[in-house]
Amino acid sequence: MPCNNCLKKPVIKLTNSNVSLCKKHFIHYFEKKVKKTIRMFNLLEKGDKIGVALSGGKDSFTVLSILKQFSDKNVIQLEALAIDEGIKSYRELSNAEKFCKKNKIKLHILRYEDFFNYSLDKMVKKFRNKTPCSFCGVFRRYLLNHGSKKFKFDKLATGHNLDDESQSILMNQFRNNPEVSARLGPITGVMIDERFIRRIKPLYFVTEKETTAYSFIKGFPVEYSECPYASFGYRNSVRDMLNEFESKYPGTRHSIINSFIKILPSLKEQFKESKALSSCKLCGEPTSKETCQACEYIKELKN
Ligand code: SF4
Ligand code: ZN
Repeated sequence: MPCNNCLKKPVIKLTNSNVSLCKKHFIHYFEKKVKKTIRMFNLLEKGDKIGVALSGGKDSFTVLSILKQFSDKNVIQLEALAIDEGIKSYRELSNAEKFCKKNKIKLHILRYEDFFNYSLDKMVKKFRNKTPCSFCGVFRRYLLNHGSKKFKFDKLATGHNLDDESQSILMNQFRNNPEVSARLGPITGVMIDERFIRRIKPLYFVTEKETTAYSFIKGFPVEYSECPYASFGYRNSVRDMLNEFESKYPGTRHSIINSFIKILPSLKEQFKESKALSSCKLCGEPTSKETCQACEYIKELKN
């Protein structure tokens, strides 16, 4: 089937519809959809300093490149923040560095080794009884928030797309975690807390397939290797289940997201009070306990 708009050779058939699009019209469709999300949910305000969490994957390059259009028009200031976990022959940030240099985007890199005295490779040896993603995730979130404050970002943009978010919603549902769901959405957080830089997700309504196609067409220098410590836990089971469901019942993911968006305001309202966080007595980061999880792990590393 040719492109719906110009009859040229299509590059993609959109999920959940009979529409096929050529390269030019797909790029137009994709960017329009992302910009509509930004507008509808007020993800950007004029003069905002936005940091993009850059991992070197397709999603983060896509976000960075689309937000660059806003910084080129002087709507926002744009910088990038990458976390180097210290994983030998996996986390290569050289492509990210080249990309940022070429596009004149300031890139900050924060390293586990510098902050925690251990690279992830060394942590894995120390924490033999834990799955790497459990502590790695905590440390990464910690550094992203720390870096966002240090570099004075108003918001941190991440590459979460519709597939990621629909998995998170289901996971929280299956685990009876409505409080965690209340922190999801195109802009995170249940209340404004200056210790916690809000995250924005411009790719909220575009699928993994669409983002992959966009990134491929744009020729982003994506790193395709997989983390050697990736643990195939709960999220993977939910992803497989959702993929199977989506292929049997196209539109399932969109339905999850669309119904979630409708209940999200009341969910945020409901959990507003219970999430008044205290500050970690060791590092000052927001936490629901006396000491934050990152500081707990750091203590264990020192033992
Ligand atoms: Fe860290 Fe797990 Fe991601 Fe690897 S896959 S970088 S261990 S969170
Ligand atoms: Zn702490």
